[in-house]
Amino acid sequence: MTRQRHSRMLRNPQLLISLFGFFILNLAIASVAYVYSQKSASLLYAQTFRQLRSITDFKHHKLELFFSYRTADLQALAGSETVVNLTATLQADAGASTTVRESSRRYLKRFLSEYVYTNALLLDTEQGHVLYSTNPQLPEGSDFNASSLVSSPLARLWREIVSTGTTQIGDIHTHPGYAPVPSMFLGTPVTVGARQTAVLILELPGNAVNEIMHFRSGMGQTGESYAVGQDHLMRSDSYLEPTRFSVARSFARPGSASVDTAAVTEALAGRQGRTLITDYRGKRVLSAYRPFTYPNFTWAIISEIDESELTEQIDKVQRDVYVLALIVSLIGSTLAYFIIRTIIQFSVVRPLQQSFRRAREFERIINDSLNEIYIFDREDLRFSYANRGALLNTGYTLEELCQMTPPAIQPEFAKDHFRELIAPLLEGKQEQIAVETVHERKDGSRYYVDVRLQLMLHEHEEKFVVVANDITERKRAEQEKEHFYRLSSHDHLTQIYNRQKFEELYDKECERTRRYDGDLALILFDIDHFKSINDTFGHQAGDVVLQVLTRHISDALRDSDTFARWGGEEFVILLPHTDLKTAVAKAEHLRRTLELLSIDGVGTVTCSFGVTAVNLFAPVAETIHEADRGLYRAKAEGRNRVCSA
Ligand code: GH3
Ligand code: MG
Ligand code: MG
Repeated sequence: MTRQRHSRMLRNPQLLISLFGFFILNLAIASVAYVYSQKSASLLYAQTFRQLRSITDFKHHKLELFFSYRTADLQALAGSETVVNLTATLQADAGASTTVRESSRRYLKRFLSEYVYTNALLLDTEQGHVLYSTNPQLPEGSDFNASSLVSSPLARLWREIVSTGTTQIGDIHTHPGYAPVPSMFLGTPVTVGARQTAVLILELPGNAVNEIMHFRSGMGQTGESYAVGQDHLMRSDSYLEPTRFSVARSFARPGSASVDTAAVTEALAGRQGRTLITDYRGKRVLSAYRPFTYPNFTWAIISEIDESELTEQIDKVQRDVYVLALIVSLIGSTLAYFIIRTIIQFSVVRPLQQSFRRAREFERIINDSLNEIYIFDREDLRFSYANRGALLNTGYTLEELCQMTPPAIQPEFAKDHFRELIAPLLEGKQEQIAVETVHERKDGSRYYVDVRLQLMLHEHEEKFVVVANDITERKRAEQEKEHFYRLSSHDHLTQIYNRQKFEELYDKECERTRRYDGDLALILFDIDHFKSINDTFGHQAGDVVLQVLTRHISDALRDSDTFARWGGEEFVILLPHTDLKTAVAKAEHLRRTLELLSIDGVGTVTCSFGVTAVNLFAPVAETIHEADRGLYRAKAEGRNRVCSA
């Protein structure tokens, strides 16, 4: 397929619309897929943040419940008969009976193990020394006013309880000396009689809130919740990095296990919210945070999930969406392809094929036509095309012809003459010019042609198109016909009408004269003593006399007169619009003309004339007979004269 045909195809509006539709379809599918995947990603982020937020709120609520239950436990224990009795007993007598101690110890041990406390202490309100302890590292008698303990967190808690007279909960801490692993102390006043005489303190393990923080419903693979204190150390063990970021480890190595993320800082500053940050493990996480505040401490409650878990899900969704889009696009494109192909087939390919076939067929017809077909330039007249018929007839090759102009093969035309011939076409005065002329072959031989010239558009330019027809055969037939016609109607020797033709024309002339109501006359004349001319000068000289005489008579007659050889040396003339008198005068004129004529080698020759008016209803024989009577008289009266009947 040529580039031209390609570009023609691309200019086809149906094809363009189809391609445009095809493009729009795929663009729409791609856009929907892209928007949907983006939307699903942002939706997933939003949903995950919401979930983390509600998990954080849930943990916060659980912590509140946890500490209110612990407070209730503690206060119930402080008000129990066992503790009040034990306190009273110990304050009355430090070395109280072992029975009281033992029964109290059993009671407390059961309580501690049931509620997962590690130790219980009784501190004297006023003295600040230990009345009772289950912690062997903090034996009875230990003094919280002593310099080694006075500034310890536990001492601070004791003083707080004593000064406020209320239950207090301390933050998780390590307590050098008596609690090297992190733990949490909570205490409440013990009232003996109406007086607060002691403070009951319970010790919780450092990971007491693990159970709450590690509750994992709705946490996915990488989700976790944890609590961080104001010192940025863990208040619950990390679920994802339990060895490095346990509470114990965090306190043991604060330098390497503190959590300094933006979420923690924000929560500790009293704000709640959500953010996308790098967490303590160096991973990108979605983080929701809020503070958990108690009178003596504030924790940051953090719930987080790895962003990679989301991106994995998003990737999966996007992959599914793109696969779906690809399938839809493939199906759509396949359908579109078949539709476009059908459209192209019907609107472009078939018409193109048909017109191409038609054009080829026309080309073949034109090229193989026996008529000569030429195309030549309107300016320099140079041929640019000649069909096979032209090449065969002229004997030139196409290359030779392309160097030539029409006058070169039409010897009857000079170049200027030819330009005159085609001028009416160039001026738009005529659409076609038809001439009969001759073509000259390369070998110099000639043949008759009928030529038709037209100015036509050819390859966007006006060119002359010539169709020439070899008419040599027709010409010959015409000439032959002419010849036979002359033979049958003319006298061979004199070339004037013969008797037969005269009779035919006589009838026609009578009819015409009858129609116009005119006159018609006839002259019959005969050469005088012609026999003796023959005898004297020979038969051939006689023939010459006949020829010369007829030529002179012809010259003296009108075009409308009919002149014929009636037979031998006898001639007849039919004169339309002529009465008898005029005819006699005409005969007299002819007689005198001949009389004055001298024929080479013979001398003068005279004729005798018989004239008659034509009876328009009489047959030719009758009229001739009438004229012959005049002629007979002219002969009888001495010849070289005119007599009418
Ligand atoms: P008249 O004056 O009475 O007419 O005498 P004439 O000799 O002309 O008449 P006649 O009828 O005796 O002779 C006619 C002659 O014309 C006889 C014939 O040989 C001659 N003739 C007829 N046709 C031709 C012809 O075609 N050529 C020649 N050379 N002679 C012809
Ligand atoms: Mg005669
Ligand atoms: Mg005669």
